[in-house]
Amino acid sequence: MRRPIIAGNHKMNLLPSESEKFIQELLPLINEKQKPEVIIFPSFASLAKVIDEVTSTKIAIGVQNIYYENQGAYTGEVSADMIKDLGCQWVLCGHSERRNIFFEDNEQVNLKIKATIKNGLKPMLCIGEKLSHRENSETEAVLMSQLYGSLKGLTEEELSELVIAYEPIWAIGTGQTATPEDAQKTIKFIRGKLSEMYSNEFGVKIRLLYGGSVKPHNVKDLMKQSDIDGALIGGASLKAESFSKLVSYNE
Ligand code: PEP
Repeated sequence: MRRPIIAGNHKMNLLPSESEKFIQELLPLINEKQKPEVIIFPSFASLAKVIDEVTSTKIAIGVQNIYYENQGAYTGEVSADMIKDLGCQWVLCGHSERRNIFFEDNEQVNLKIKATIKNGLKPMLCIGEKLSHRENSETEAVLMSQLYGSLKGLTEEELSELVIAYEPIWAIGTGQTATPEDAQKTIKFIRGKLSEMYSNEFGVKIRLLYGGSVKPHNVKDLMKQSDIDGALIGGASLKAESFSKLVSYNE
């Protein structure tokens, strides 16, 4: 049985004081016996305040990026052991905005996943195709190269906590969600590939999320799909009211 995940990626939004208020407003709105695992990825600036607010709740906190060395002369970067020391549990690796705006390639994503695991944190890998790939029927080839490149050299045991978010780039922040059937088809393909790369058991166990314009009105239909184990949400995760509706999609 795969436990669902509802995760919010706050990107470069919300001042630390606003993030604090977001959590204070969210907590009374969500049921502590909630079924899904809830993860929030605030900005680095909001991290300490958010972690303080969620202590003794079931909400887990992650970061949107790390650098793959633990310390050294890397001006402006933040390492996995630093964020672990703060109380973070998750690291988002290879979000399409990191890939497209900051030119992160699969090789760098691979190093970041390795640093995440080495430091005892859990990686959430993002993969997804551009609209042009989709139009040229290249979606599967792109996803395969992202999977092989990002997970290179990692064993099934090392990847036991890995979660993958399939996020078609054309659906991120556009209001253009993949249909539940389309998302299911592609996520089923990803699960099949992972079974081939590792084992059938691994493919059955790994949690695969969908991301791309998930909103309170469409989350339920996406979550009904047999291979979709959760959602990674940008825009609709920024307000406590809308994020709480996503968390309670099943109620
Ligand atoms: C995201 O950035 O991961 C995302 C899915 O954004 P949105 O929900 O706004 O499309």
